[in-house]
Amino acid sequence: MVVILENSATKEQIENVIKHLEDYGFQIHKSTGVQRTVIGAIGVQPGFDTRKVKILDGVADVYRVTAPFKQASRSFKEDKTVIKVKDVEIGGDEIVLIAGPCSIESEEQMFKLAEVVSKSGSKILRGGAFKPRTSPYSFQGMGEEGLVIMRDAAEKNNLVTITEVMQIGEIDVIEKYIDIFQVGARNMQNFALLKELGKTQKPVMLKRGLAATIEEWLMSAEYILANGNPNVMLCERGIRTFETYTRNTFDLSAIPIVQKISHLPVIADPSHATGYRDQVPPMARAAVAAGADGLMIEIHHDPENALSDGPQALLPEVYLELINELKLIAKAIHREI
Ligand code: PEP
Ligand code: MN
Repeated sequence: MVVILENSATKEQIENVIKHLEDYGFQIHKSTGVQRTVIGAIGVQPGFDTRKVKILDGVADVYRVTAPFKQASRSFKEDKTVIKVKDVEIGGDEIVLIAGPCSIESEEQMFKLAEVVSKSGSKILRGGAFKPRTSPYSFQGMGEEGLVIMRDAAEKNNLVTITEVMQIGEIDVIEKYIDIFQVGARNMQNFALLKELGKTQKPVMLKRGLAATIEEWLMSAEYILANGNPNVMLCERGIRTFETYTRNTFDLSAIPIVQKISHLPVIADPSHATGYRDQVPPMARAAVAAGADGLMIEIHHDPENALSDGPQALLPEVYLELINELKLIAKAIHREI
């Protein structure tokens, strides 16, 4: 249930409403917006008569949230969530660019690519240290050694970092070195992991599962929010369909849908969505036009010899050229890069 307070509601009136809701057995989430305060009351109370709240002083309106995801929904929180990490804002007017290799491979590679990312004006460096590979015989990532390399490369270039966490046991070590947790497509419904990430302080980027509906994806975000971490961003990375010309099918329409039904920032990952470098720039341009709050793009200085996802990595010069195009598209829709 969402309780919208009058613009003129006093502090005492708001406290009184909260007290009543708590007495009725609801869990409270207050959000103080620019215009007015909205209180989310969570808890299933079949047959609860909303008039009991509507008549309280200071209340403008009360309505039920019909979507199964509550805290992730727009009706729960009207203002868009803007996540602040160091001096970077995700979900604001500026479209945030995240770039880097699929996997952290060596010091030389990471320092080289971090410099490219920084020179391009992108703010966030990516790189996997714990890799979810389809084959157990493929490169599994450098682990903690890789995290140290990425942290050092990011510090030198004033970048924020993101890396994938695959299991609960990796949370502490990743939190020590890295700014944002990434939950990969294969782990979108690892609810035990999501609950633990909800108890951490750092932002989480939740990728859409390989065969997840938008509602299932938002329910997974709800697990993180419900456990206390409000800093969740979503990432569309393509879904599995019958098509074989692409690695996955990029669900571009998920971007405006999520923007409408949720307040959480949406990032698009055209690299994993397509799997082929020639398809990445067109889909990156489309994602910006569709309203994504950010892009995650894999780059590599030597893709032929990359230890993972070489075929979808952009060469640094191609990435730089793409950004110039993206800037024009962003401007056309009154955003910035
Ligand atoms: C990745 O970003 O490195 C990755 C493995 O992506 P996904 O979980 O979307 O496959
Ligand atoms: Mn990859």
